[in-house]
Amino acid sequence: MMQPNPFYKDLQEEYLFRYIAGKTEEFRKEHPGEKLLRMGIGDVSLPLPPSVIRALHEAVSDQADPQKFHGYMPECGGDFLRNAVAAHYRRRGIDIDPAEVFVSSGASDELGDLQDLFARENTALIMEPVYPAYLDACIIAGRKILHLPSGWQNDFLPEPDDSINADMVYLCSPNNPTGAVFTKALLKDWVDWANRRGAVILFDAAYEAFITDENLPRSIFEIDGARTCAIEICSLSKTAGFTGTRLGYTVIPEALIRQEMNLNRMWVRNRTTKTNGISYILQKGGSAVFTEEGQKEIQENIAVYRKNAAVLSKALEEEDVRFTGGKNAPYIWMKCPNGFKSWDFFDLLLQKIQVIGTPGAGFGEAGEGCFRFSTFGSPADTEEAACRLGQLLRRIKEGTVSLGG
Ligand code: PLP
Repeated sequence: MMQPNPFYKDLQEEYLFRYIAGKTEEFRKEHPGEKLLRMGIGDVSLPLPPSVIRALHEAVSDQADPQKFHGYMPECGGDFLRNAVAAHYRRRGIDIDPAEVFVSSGASDELGDLQDLFARENTALIMEPVYPAYLDACIIAGRKILHLPSGWQNDFLPEPDDSINADMVYLCSPNNPTGAVFTKALLKDWVDWANRRGAVILFDAAYEAFITDENLPRSIFEIDGARTCAIEICSLSKTAGFTGTRLGYTVIPEALIRQEMNLNRMWVRNRTTKTNGISYILQKGGSAVFTEEGQKEIQENIAVYRKNAAVLSKALEEEDVRFTGGKNAPYIWMKCPNGFKSWDFFDLLLQKIQVIGTPGAGFGEAGEGCFRFSTFGSPADTEEAACRLGQLLRRIKEGTVSLGG
């Protein structure tokens, strides 16, 4: 008899964002006239930059031309894109070889697929609050999981220590959900911890493009020692608007070796078996992101989201609400007022002001009492949400609005 993977029973019944979408839909059906302001899910609202669109169109035409047509692409990515990504790192002073770059269909796929590199016996360290995909991927792989909670006391940036007995850890910076960003010094502590133990860091840099502070690391490979302990997972989703188009890349250094096994070679072996490469059209579109023009255009889009973050941050500052993120990150992570639990605050916002955010408790116990806003919406919706939120927070303070009231 086929035996299903029993660890699926340990997963939450429904993925967080599907559950929120269901709750929102219920409200919409009951209140068809209300305008909902969706500040929950981290999906972009601006279209792909013009240079990407042009490259996509050209690539489609290539596929109609017998001289330019491409069949299967190399499993680890087209040379043109691997070279472009490596050059992009080099421009920032980071020496990455194109053979260390793997083109992917996005960070989500990679975060789970990379589990193939690790023996089942490895213990995974999960920082909380956590982007749920890390936890779910570890549960599905049947791993032992250690939880490392963080909170307001350390600005949601936990420190390593040698009593943490883990073999692999997901680090996310800028962080989803908290918007917190590791400093170089703290990231160096994690790199040193991993090298001392022989652990491997899976560094999720999906939001690196949102960092403006030049002192903060955008890549773990800015840190000495990272080449022997880290894999970096990047995505064009939020950087360049590829959420619906799908493209990302992963860097696995040649120097990442455990028990005489080279993880870069192992991943080549994995990809050549499990994929037939990413579509030529998408890779061509993605390569436009790394041109001078593409970089300028994506920064124009990111500037719109940064402005949204500033608008929401201002509304919270005016009401003396404690929060992290919003600077160097597209998420704002606030402390719920009056000690409200995060799902109660979710319901209150939905019922009273029709603003949809994400309850912190959805990111693990350490997120209870917190609430996340995404700043990827339209500027008009963000302005309106900030205004409604400010008013509601004032009324909560005055005591004229309360749970169930
Ligand atoms: N990593 C983090 C931290 C994310 O927030 C997201 C998406 O929201 C992803 C990865 C997934 O990115 P992609 O769209 O490339 O799969």
